[in-house]
Amino acid sequence: MIPDRPAGTSEPPDEKAGPAAVDKLAPIALDLFCQRCGYNLKGLTSDRCPECGKSLETVRLIEPQIPWVHRKRLGRFRAYWKTVYLAMFHQGRFCEEMARPVSYSDSQRFRWVTILHVYIPILLATICAYQLAPPEPVVMTRSFQVPGGWTQSGPPWFERAYAEIWPVAVLHVCFLLFLAAATGVHSYYFHPRDLPVHVQNRAIALSYYAHAPLAWTPVPIGLAVAAWWLAGSHELTAIGLIAAAVPLLLLELACWWSAIAGFLRDTMPGRKAHFRLVAIALPFLWLALAGVIFFGVSLVVFCVLVVFASLT
Ligand SMILES: [Zn+2]
Repeated sequence: MIPDRPAGTSEPPDEKAGPAAVDKLAPIALDLFCQRCGYNLKGLTSDRCPECGKSLETVRLIEPQIPWVHRKRLGRFRAYWKTVYLAMFHQGRFCEEMARPVSYSDSQRFRWVTILHVYIPILLATICAYQLAPPEPVVMTRSFQVPGGWTQSGPPWFERAYAEIWPVAVLHVCFLLFLAAATGVHSYYFHPRDLPVHVQNRAIALSYYAHAPLAWTPVPIGLAVAAWWLAGSHELTAIGLIAAAVPLLLLELACWWSAIAGFLRDTMPGRKAHFRLVAIALPFLWLALAGVIFFGVSLVVFCVLVVFASLT
């Protein structure tokens, strides 16, 4: 439970500023919570949390401190990577944004840019893999009736598209669907109904910045592609690259999970049971999503192909 402000609150532990300085500050108007101890700061006129002494300097700022919000001024590249750094290594500070309105559209843009950081390397890796090891020509055993009166086994592009590109395209669609689902499902846990609506909205919007660790995906994928490239000529180097890529990918996934759990802890401090439940459930939820999407979509495509084949 988030503790309510007790009656007759004691003065902040650090009283160097003195009562006169304290009185200068306007009372905090909203239900905001100290990111360290979960204390409700509403009505507070001091610059420190009366419960734990944490400085409320950034909480009292009016301007949002998320670099991504200032991307027009900072430049997109710089703003993006500054936000990634902040979200990965300073989650407590990042979650102090709960003190200000958080733009949902900005956080969604950050989420989708991050998804592209995952998907584009996978797409390029697929193209590279195809170039490095082109599949054997597939001999079609079935004739196709294609527009234009073809009654042979079909033109080469048709055979190739039918036999080789389709399965890969389906896998890519599944992967994109999985990324969209996996980067959205966590938000369900960021809006407990007992919190005020504006607090729920801020927590949900902030939670999308927790996907920041996925921005590093090009590194392990690039190492894996380089390893494949060198596998024939420099076997030891290739093994070394794979040995680096796998732990990096696992580390990235661990950081992703940890960032979401950290954001949950820091946006809603004081809810330890809720935090533990989500932290444990999240990896299983991702696995279940992957299973449902990859199996479900593949099954639908398979059924469509069976119907298509039976009609030709
Ligand atoms: Zn506190």
